[in-house]
Order: sequence, then C-alpha cells, then structure tokens
Amino acid sequence: MTSFPTLEQIIGHTAVLANLQRAMADHHPGHAHLFFGPPGVGKATVAAAFVQALFCPAKGTAGGSGCGQCPSCRKVAQGNHGDLVRVVMAEGKTRIGVDQVRQLAGFFALTPMEAPWKVAIVDDAATMNEAAANALLKTLEEPPARSLLILVTRQPGKLLPTIRSRCLKTRFSLLAPGEVQRILSGLTQLDDETLREVVAAGGGNVGQALAFSQGELPALRQKFCQEMVDLPTVTLGCLFTMAEQWSPPEKFALVSSLLRKWLQERIRAVVCHPDTQEKGNAITQEDWLKAIVFIEQLLRQAVVVNLNRRLVLEAAFIRLARLQGAAY
Ligand SMILES: [Zn+2]
Repeated sequence: MTSFPTLEQIIGHTAVLANLQRAMADHHPGHAHLFFGPPGVGKATVAAAFVQALFCPAKGTAGGSGCGQCPSCRKVAQGNHGDLVRVVMAEGKTRIGVDQVRQLAGFFALTPMEAPWKVAIVDDAATMNEAAANALLKTLEEPPARSLLILVTRQPGKLLPTIRSRCLKTRFSLLAPGEVQRILSGLTQLDDETLREVVAAGGGNVGQALAFSQGELPALRQKFCQEMVDLPTVTLGCLFTMAEQWSPPEKFALVSSLLRKWLQERIRAVVCHPDTQEKGNAITQEDWLKAIVFIEQLLRQAVVVNLNRRLVLEAAFIRLARLQGAAY
C-alpha cells in the first residue's frame, strides 16, 4: 500500500466504504457529507480517496474506486487538482475564519474544470468560528450545482445543528488492532515486536500509533517505568499528578498497554523467581492477580462505559502503591 490509498485499498471502515460506494452508485454523491469519529482513524484519508473515486475517469474499471494512477487521481493525491480545495486552519490560528469559508463560495461559483464535481473538504470543521459557520450554512442552504462539501470533524456536537442536519452523516469508529497493524506495516519498517507495541499504544488511532512509531514511544515508556519504580514512595499529590498526565485520550491507550505489560512482568517475576521476594514483605502471586483483575476491569470500563480516565488511573495507581507498602 502507498501512503495514499485509493478507496478499495482503504483498510477497515467497511460500513463507511459501503455507504460511499452506494452514494456514488446513485450517480449523485449528495451536496454535503459529514465525516465524524475519533481522531487518527483515517477520516481525511477516506475523504480524499472518495474524491479520487468521484473524479477518476477510469473508475469503471477500478471497481468504483479511483485507479490511483491517472492524472486526475495523482493530482488529488498531490493536493493540486483544480476542482478540489481543502480548507484547513491557517498556521498560528486556533479557528477556521470566515474569509476562508467565503472563498469557497467563489470556488463553487465556477464550473468544474475537468472533474464532474467541484469538491471542498473542510478539515477540523468544528473549529470554524461563528461567522465562518454561518457563512458555510449559506452555502449549504443553496448548494451550487455540481458542488460537494465534505466536513471532517472529531467533534460533530460542536457544529451548528442546522449544518449537521443538511449533511449526509458518516460515522467512523476506531480501527481494530489488526487493521492498524496492517496500515502501519505498509507505512513503516518496524520490527514485529515494536509494531505490536505501537499498535497497542495507539488504541485504534493510526495517527497516534504512527506518532509513537516515530520516536515518542521510548521516552514515554522510560517515564512510565521510572514512575512505577517511584510509585510506592511518592506522595498522594504526586500520584494524582501522574494520573492526570496520562489521562488525555491520546495517552490513555498507551498507559493502559504499558500498565498491562508491567503487571504481567511483575507476576512473571513472582512465579519464576519467588526467592527474590523480600521475606516478610513478599507480595504473593494471588495479590498481584487480584490487582491485575481490578485494574483490567477499570481500564475496560474507561473505554466501554466512558469512565473518567483520570479517576481510573488514580484508582489503579493507588491500588498498586498500597500493594507495595504505601501508607495511604
Ligand atoms: Zn484514476
């Protein structure tokens, strides 16, 4: 797989792809789509592959997908197709501004140069400021002929309800570990063990797993290991700070994975080298097992029923600190 897959080369997102193929088979892709779901799962990649498929003159022979080879597909991949515009937050800004959205009206007013449609992809659409959102709403209320707008966001709830209601909605989910592994093995040269580790650390987020694979992981792993060494002796205040630092969504899957691995190593040490335990202060295999069950349940609940991640980590760290002799 190249770094820019065509629609049929996209890994995972089966239901999403089926919906998009259906929209194309109707010979009208709709005027506005909203792609939403967690960060790093490939929403923007699918959006670009969808545009490739809409534009590609050879798609009849490519099973409804863009061929990936023709001048049109290449221009979409390189970001220089005249009938495609991408709206992203300007450098140094925190919101998409109204001028950027107004320029879209001018873009849509022109007839397509070579493709059947004129398409605009708005990345991080929820970062539009109020004026930008209202300007976009005008375009949505009176969609120009042969125009297609694709809004991409991780926070659909922050878009105006009037914008959301005018879009065909496509929900993206986290990818399965096997899918992330296949994507990453096409993009990186990692050995199998590192690959498995970054996939677990990414927690279904390809972007995050990729960031970990590009060097962030060793430093974070080292930080975690040092914190586990210090855990029984740090103050409760320090423990709360640790929990806080690991609780953002992009770090939670990583700390869960590191914690599981660390616990497995503890229990392996007790089983394989029982004589290295200090006499009178030995933590038994059963103690570790109970802690593992307790922590595993917490980590799962954090994901499945959306428990507060910071509180989950506080509870896990306190349990481990107490197990190793902390007095609180
Ligand atoms: Zn093509």
